[in-house]
Amino acid sequence: MILTYIEQDREKVNEASFEALTLARQLAEQTNAPLHAITIGSAADELVERLGAFGVRTLHVASSEALSAGNTAVEYAPAAYAQSIVEIIHAQKPAAVLAAGSERGNEIMAHVAAKTNLPMAANCIEVQAGDAYIVTRQRWGGSLFEQAKLKGATKLLTVAPNSIPVVTNSFVAQTVGTNKFVTTLSENDLRTRIISRVETSSGKVSLGEARVVVGGGRGVGSAEGFKILEELADLLGGAVGGSRVVTGLGWRPHADQIGQTGNRIQPELYISCGVSGAIQHLVGAKGAKHILAINTDPDASIMYKADYAVIGDLHQVVPAISAEMRKRRG
Ligand SMILES: Cc1cc2nc3c(=O)[nH]c(=O)nc-3n(C[C@H](O)[C@H](O)[C@H](O)COP(=O)(O)OP(=O)(O)OC[C@H]3O[C@@H](n4cnc5c(N)ncnc54)[C@H](O)[C@@H]3O)c2cc1C
Repeated sequence: MILTYIEQDREKVNEASFEALTLARQLAEQTNAPLHAITIGSAADELVERLGAFGVRTLHVASSEALSAGNTAVEYAPAAYAQSIVEIIHAQKPAAVLAAGSERGNEIMAHVAAKTNLPMAANCIEVQAGDAYIVTRQRWGGSLFEQAKLKGATKLLTVAPNSIPVVTNSFVAQTVGTNKFVTTLSENDLRTRIISRVETSSGKVSLGEARVVVGGGRGVGSAEGFKILEELADLLGGAVGGSRVVTGLGWRPHADQIGQTGNRIQPELYISCGVSGAIQHLVGAKGAKHILAINTDPDASIMYKADYAVIGDLHQVVPAISAEMRKRRG
């Protein structure tokens, strides 16, 4: 059996889980094994239906009093979530467990590996089944690909986000059976857990989910300089992000950073303003479908990655785009 962890945060599914499920589906086909999924908390009908389209046979739904006490939504605790997966590993001995290579996916699977002493490979993009699995995985934020051999009764893999197109239509849809169970947790499993949440930008779309991202770099010049980027993002219903230089200088909070040590974005359009396009920045922006670069330097690295470019001063170009948009909208 091949098992995929379906990541949910307060009942909202992380779409990257379906990339993991696509790779899991390929593995199940290579090895003629049934495909199962596991999630923590609850599973909406819509989720169960989507899993059926991938040919998932059984969905294991883990819950625990300790994590949901008083709430309908289950709060996050990495070792506790891992324990739910460990219970299925012990009971059903899957050949592999896959999860999204998100912050949480990687964290939970690292706990699973530590609890079971099983081998784990993070950020895989390809896998060839066999006694040992041959996996291709991304290193250094995607600037290097590495082949690795993974041996073990159960192999643990996470899938690099935005690296595998989600495929469903070639699979035979299944009616998904559900197996609800209560995870047995120890005190140790609850040592790290969410106790409160602080929303940073209430009502605004998050960087990870925005369809348009307006990003600023050193060229913006100051914290105040971001006002024109905010204005453009508001007009487009998008979010504002920045390079490490601007978070380092305190012009934007670290939560807004795009890149290897910040957020990975995947908008339809990334408007990059006064950003040079260092590799560590581009790693976070490579999920963008289109890039519009605004930069005074025609030779800036970002120009070689951009679909569209405006060579010019962002302080003139950005307000001009906003003005044109307002004019066209009447
Ligand atoms: C381990 C490590 C991790 C890192 N992680 C990240 C990360 O997660 N994210 C990240 O962004 N960086 C990261 N960096 C830093 C990265 O290497 C670059 O230093 C950084 O991205 C550069 O930021 P920048 O493009 O804003 O600034 P610069 O490189 O200084 O570029 C500024 C650009 O603005 C242009 N410009 C100037 N004035 C104007 C104007 N008026 N109008 C238009 N254009 C103008 C310039 O031509 C230039 O291209 C990391 C570095 C390391 C070593």
